[in-house]
Parts: sequence; structure tokens; C-alpha cells
Amino acid sequence: MMMQIEDALKQARQRLQHSETPQLDAEILLCHCLDCDRSRVYAWPEEELPADIDAAFFELVEKRAAGHPVAHLIASREFWSLRLKVTQATLIPRPETECLVEAGLAMLPADKPCTVLDLGTGSGAIAIAIATERPCAHIVATDISAAALAVAQYNAARHQLHDLRFIHADWFNFKNETNFDMIISNPPYISPEDEHLQQGDVRFEARTALVAEEEGLAHIHTIIANARRYLNIGGWLLLEHGYQQANKVQTRLKQHGFSQVKTGMDLSGHERYSIGQYQT
Ligand code: GLN
Repeated sequence: MMMQIEDALKQARQRLQHSETPQLDAEILLCHCLDCDRSRVYAWPEEELPADIDAAFFELVEKRAAGHPVAHLIASREFWSLRLKVTQATLIPRPETECLVEAGLAMLPADKPCTVLDLGTGSGAIAIAIATERPCAHIVATDISAAALAVAQYNAARHQLHDLRFIHADWFNFKNETNFDMIISNPPYISPEDEHLQQGDVRFEARTALVAEEEGLAHIHTIIANARRYLNIGGWLLLEHGYQQANKVQTRLKQHGFSQVKTGMDLSGHERYSIGQYQT
């Protein structure tokens, strides 16, 4: 017997009780199988699901019940109202990083050319969001993972952003012809000992995109120590970090001669990023 949309969603919701968002997860997975948006499942709850769709949906529900992130199951995630492809090679873009993008945009001129470097771009989320808001910006995005860079390039092309430059590099290990007005990054910053790595969705994400030595600060330290050589005078460095890392990041920025050092919050009220300006 064919199953109706509302019954399929109800069954899935019960199966996904351990998710923080069972209903939403179920709707997103079903819409992915139906290749439609969510209005259809609200408008036609009595629509009957073909057997192949039904089977594909419950296969995804089982994977979600085992903890796989929804973004991996549908290979996609929204960031800055942009649909981005994600794979297991990239960090899943998170809403807190939108706050970093906002902070970056506040420092960039609206309609004059400027140069921006996104270090460790992953899916390309930060670089692509800035590119859509600042069409005059010249943006370079790097990643140590060739697989991640391929995803970022795909996402840029999907959003018709043809002027982004992608470089395969380990942080600053590349030759730049000109310096940048801004360096922005969401590097890995979770301590290898952090118990969250064993819980929930992050268990399925690439550890290289999440974890850093020195209590999560190793990559942040590398970036701060080298950023000035790549910044124009007056240029800004913006770094996302863990909610308990603001003091240490601020101290490091000041030690390396950055001024105007400030920390910003994410939408949950956590100290989520810090910024500093390079002045002589
Ligand atoms: N904010 C992410 C988390 O807590 C980590 C992102 C990162 O390491 N850059 O899961």
C-alpha cells in the first residue's frame, strides 16, 4: 500500500526523536527525495508517495537516525541564503560563520575595489557570501584539501561568481602578487580532547576541518603570526574561534601588533570571532 506524505513524515519524525529537529530533518529529506520545496509537503499532505521515493526516503531517515548530518545526506546546505554543495571533504557551513561574514562586510567598501583572502575556504561559504555582496572585491580563497577546493569552485560557478581565485595551499604557503585589505578565516579550532567530537553530527565531519593542536589554537596561531606579511597597512584580520578562546586570540593578535582588537558574538551570544587591524 502506498504511503501518504503526512504518514511518512510522522513515521520519520518518530524515528528521528534523537535529533534536535526531527520534523525539519524529515521534511528536508523527503523534499530532497521528491526534488521539491517544503511548500509541497504542506500543501499536499495526502499525496501518495511512489514506492521508490518511499524507499529512498526511509533509507535516508535510517542514516539520519544513525547520526549522519542532513547536509551530508542531501549534499547541500544553505549559507547566507545561498545553496552550497557540501561533501565529507568540507566543513558543513554553520550559521555562526554568517556573523563572521557580516563583520567582514562591515569593514569592506560597498562599491570600491578591495582585496580579500579567505583562508581554509572549505565549501567556499565565506568567500562566496562576500563575493555576492561585494561585486568589486577581488577574492582569493585557499584550502589545503584539493577535494574541498573542487567543491568551493563548483559552488562559485553555481552562483555565477567567475572572478574568485582558488589556490591549493597550506595557510600562507603560496605566492601572492599583491597584499590584501582583509584576511578572513574559519579555521579548525576544536581541541583534540574536546568531548563534543564524540557527540552528534560532528562525529561524521572531516576532523581536519575541525580539530587543531594546542587546545584548538595551533592554526589560529599560525595565521596570526603570518598575516601581517599578507596585509595592506590598515587591513583587517578576522578569525572565527571557539566560544572560550576569545581572550587567548585577542592576546595573540595584540602580541603580533594588531590594533583595534575586538571580539564579536554569534547569534547564541557566544564570543565567536575576533578581529584586529594592521597598522604600522
Ligand atoms: N563551530 C564548529 C563546531 O563547533 C567548528 C568549526 C571550526 O572548527 N572551524 O562544531
